[in-house]
Amino acid sequence: MKISSIKKYLKPNTIQGRKSTFSNAFASALAPYDAYSDATVAEAINDLDQDPNKDLYCVYCGEEAATWDHVFNRVVDGEFSGYGHRIRNLVPCCRACNERKGKKHWKTFLELINPEDKDLRINRMERFLHNHSASDDLEIIQRKAPEELRQFRQVRSEIFQLMAEADRLAAVIREKAAT
Ligand SMILES: [Zn+2]
Repeated sequence: MKISSIKKYLKPNTIQGRKSTFSNAFASALAPYDAYSDATVAEAINDLDQDPNKDLYCVYCGEEAATWDHVFNRVVDGEFSGYGHRIRNLVPCCRACNERKGKKHWKTFLELINPEDKDLRINRMERFLHNHSASDDLEIIQRKAPEELRQFRQVRSEIFQLMAEADRLAAVIREKAAT
């Protein structure tokens, strides 16, 4: 560890500095999810040319999988993208690829890491995602619960305003405590 890493503590820590964490939590809370079913998950894994009864492998690089990657991000610009916790939006992934992929499109990411069997992996993912219209989840929410969605966004906005007010008060408190 470098001595300079202490600097992040030696400055005001604002609540609004965590705003993206809160935005993500609000977006995630809206994300519909599939009920777990052995058969449905096994079928999806089969469609990735993997054996559901064995250890799973990263769909991007082929290393042993350690987590599940959301093929399409749940959150875009702080809003729910329409891609929820759907079985066809979750693929086995290693930690390195999961971290490195970030917000990139899955195909852009495969082009970037350029595995030897890239074309095969792209074809496999396209087949897996075929008929997978996950982004309809946002359209469904807007159509079926427009009033609740409006209220939900209003609550979020009020919470952000309260966070700003708390930050203002915290600054006054720090100032008074320091003098
Ligand atoms: Zn990987």
